[in-house]
Amino acid sequence: MNRFDFFIVGGGAAGICAALGARARLRGEGVPDSAFRIAIAERNDRLGIKIRISGGGKCNVTHAGDMRQVLSEGFLRASEQRFLKPAFFALSNETVLSWLRAKGVETYARENGRVFPRSGKASDVLAAFEAMLNESAVEVLLNAHVQDVRRDSSGFVLESSRGEFRADFLLIATGGVSYPKTGTTGDGLRFARKLGHSIIEPIAALAPIRFRQKPLSHLVGVSLRNVGLIAESERHKFFRRDDVLITHWGVSGPACLSISREVAEELRHASVRIFADLFPDETTETLDKTFVAFQTKRAAQFVRTFFEERLPNAIVPSLFEQADLALEQKWSVLPKSSRKRLVEASKKFFLGEAQEVPIERGEVSAGGVSLKEIDPKTMRSRLVEGLHFAGEALDVAGEVGGFNLQAAYSTGWLAGESVAKTFLAKLSRRCESEVDGVAKT
Ligand SMILES: Cc1cc2nc3c(=O)[nH]c(=O)nc-3n(C[C@H](O)[C@H](O)[C@H](O)COP(=O)(O)OP(=O)(O)OC[C@H]3O[C@@H](n4cnc5c(N)ncnc54)[C@H](O)[C@@H]3O)c2cc1C
Repeated sequence: MNRFDFFIVGGGAAGICAALGARARLRGEGVPDSAFRIAIAERNDRLGIKIRISGGGKCNVTHAGDMRQVLSEGFLRASEQRFLKPAFFALSNETVLSWLRAKGVETYARENGRVFPRSGKASDVLAAFEAMLNESAVEVLLNAHVQDVRRDSSGFVLESSRGEFRADFLLIATGGVSYPKTGTTGDGLRFARKLGHSIIEPIAALAPIRFRQKPLSHLVGVSLRNVGLIAESERHKFFRRDDVLITHWGVSGPACLSISREVAEELRHASVRIFADLFPDETTETLDKTFVAFQTKRAAQFVRTFFEERLPNAIVPSLFEQADLALEQKWSVLPKSSRKRLVEASKKFFLGEAQEVPIERGEVSAGGVSLKEIDPKTMRSRLVEGLHFAGEALDVAGEVGGFNLQAAYSTGWLAGESVAKTFLAKLSRRCESEVDGVAKT
């Protein structure tokens, strides 16, 4: 029998939690498992490939702290925060961690709030979810690539590599479009569009930035700790504070990943230049004062020593070149104009001109199903009865730090619960009308 009550396309964090959410609600109301069939179709030969590769195989499973704070730290756009709020309160980080604990997966939070399994193994997290699914009477269809979805009078019809399936409720949890080799090639967005939904064009997020000109070879591999990263076009200026890594092609590292979505968007309209503020704790004035003090305190010293003591040595020659200063310059004979140029270059060290933010290299992709057409309290489509969306297929993208997995668990769980509630409401209406019918006869 290929007919299901609830069919979930995509066996990632969102799809798994949706199945768990639906079953938990139904069992809570005493509905036998046999009365409500749930299936997850996953095109890969295993569930949760992105959980397995997350956090470099260590899985930054969620972010610690109060959910309100997690939401505001993890999602910088007010529209995303508003949309995700009901889901984040429906399924919190603490609940997810308690599930993992119950399955023997202990976790710890780092100082920056990122939570990891103590074993350091993402596969343990996935195994815990798989065990929960096993206990929840969910039919997992592996190697089931859903190729087409349509709706007819009897519900949803899904064409897949494992044949045709039918369902009353459908969840599209097919993820974003980054790392397409993992299976996330944007099928869900195609299905959503076909069913009448608007799609916000996917864009890279949490991705490296490629420059027009490769960085100088001696700079490749240099890691700038806790600097300011500035992305500037003629229209906008964006800023992040964190580590930046100079790569063969441009930049990467936490500050770059965080700013990449804005850069990708801005590149659609304008050219974007990338700079580092090498002394983000100083203003232009305080840095200049520091240099003035050095001109007397360290008059006989080379100016470069100051930088060599504070920055990776490899960048000092480039910094001096940008300030148009000789490397042998001493503090005692530093003209004011040169000092000003040095301040300027330190606060705005040119790294390169952005050419591209490769979407396939993003940890997530932004864009996806427009939030305006989804009810945030249920994850239900406002356009198509019985249709739901969850996870990265939606137009949300969080920062690095466990926020994206949490968004997938929470939106998935809420979608599953809401499917179960709708089913229960229909069931009770049916019972009422049957009772009425009996009473009338
Ligand atoms: C390298 C990397 C590291 C990351 N590290 C972290 C981290 O440490 N912490 C964190 O919070 N986030 C991390 N993320 C982001 C996080 O993994 C995702 O945001 C999250 O997994 C999204 O969950 P999802 O269920 O919405 O989608 P996915 O996990 O992408 O799941 C979607 C599933 O749908 C399947 N699918 C797609 N189309 C079809 C179809 N037509 N038929 C059947 N199946 C289909 C796919 O194969 C896939 O398994 C990382 C991402 C990457 C790429």
